[in-house]
Amino acid sequence: MSRIAYVNGRYVPHAQACVHIEDRGYQFADGVYEVCEVWSGKIVDERRHLDRLDRSLGELSIASPMSRAALGFVLREVIRRNRVRDGLVYLQVTRGVAKRDHYFPADGTPPALVVTARAADPRAAEKVADAGVGVITVPENRWDRVDIKTVGLLPNVLAKQKARERGAREAWFVDGDGMVTEGGSTNAWIVTKDGKLVTRPADHGILRGITRQVVLDLAAREGLSVEERAFSVAEALEAKEAFITAASSLVMPVVRIDGRAVGNGHPGSIARNLREKFHEISELEEI
Ligand code: PLP
Repeated sequence: MSRIAYVNGRYVPHAQACVHIEDRGYQFADGVYEVCEVWSGKIVDERRHLDRLDRSLGELSIASPMSRAALGFVLREVIRRNRVRDGLVYLQVTRGVAKRDHYFPADGTPPALVVTARAADPRAAEKVADAGVGVITVPENRWDRVDIKTVGLLPNVLAKQKARERGAREAWFVDGDGMVTEGGSTNAWIVTKDGKLVTRPADHGILRGITRQVVLDLAAREGLSVEERAFSVAEALEAKEAFITAASSLVMPVVRIDGRAVGNGHPGSIARNLREKFHEISELEEI
């Protein structure tokens, strides 16, 4: 079955899907994106992702490409046409196409919208989670508006590639005070020896992860205590557990930091429990 993408009003074969060479996303990374999980034939936390999309667009003064209802329709159509039951749906909005010039294009230039979807094997993801993943640490070198989900991800790309080259899956950015901000594509958490969950407050230093918010809700339901504060790499190495969260990996146990074991070197029970129960509390929308 061939994959289908949505590009600026048309559903086209993925292999032939193109954007203009002067799309501002291509030339300036002048755009934003969202990724939603598709789980058991449902879209996960669509409302929250589209709320964050609106916020990202607003922060950059990019117009919405279409109404929320229309966008919901396109997301579903792309998921359906690609027969995705478990996987991800990706959407990207850029400031549109215009002659290359740093200034914003003329009023009325339509934003550009691309939507893709792809299937993923949930069993493969569970295998990764059963083993846990390694992270490396790298100096924070991103701009100070990482709360906006822009497609400008070069520092994240370089950090994650470095992680891969060192046999790890994720890179944690560490700020000038030695505190972990977040991962290249995930939020970072630890569980202290006395069982408290710790994650950095969602200020301008991190992306306000939707999975992070759902895990906070789940932790409250489970009666776990949570401290929203920064933690250092040294504290993480002393922690009982560590994990990362994102729509693309849910709650993923971290078992090594810079090659050193976290806790007993195996996924912790709290991370595993949060992973198992995640979809009990996330919003599941029909496709
Ligand atoms: N932090 C960064 C830098 C990300 O890119 C992502 C997801 O792409 C996240 C955190 C997790 O966000 P969410 O839980 O909304 O997927």
